[in-house]
Amino acid sequence: MGDPFAIPSRKQMRRTPFRPRCKNCRTNKRVIPIRYSHEITESLLEKERNGELKIGGSSRSVDAPNWFCTRCETGFQR
Ligand SMILES: [Zn+2]
Repeated sequence: MGDPFAIPSRKQMRRTPFRPRCKNCRTNKRVIPIRYSHEITESLLEKERNGELKIGGSSRSVDAPNWFCTRCETGFQR
């Protein structure tokens, strides 16, 4: 049990954001977040081009995937 009031250490303050593992290839190296947005901005398109995220469209249903694996081209929810 850790101290709940402790300041997070440098190790916990990671630069790389959390990414879940893909169920198929069991790695998170090619997993990108899916962004749902009503407006597709130029910065969103640029991030998609860079492979940082995937634009999922304007509507988001309850069971819509929020992560996408570019290796096996499947979206999944986490
Ligand atoms: Zn995969």
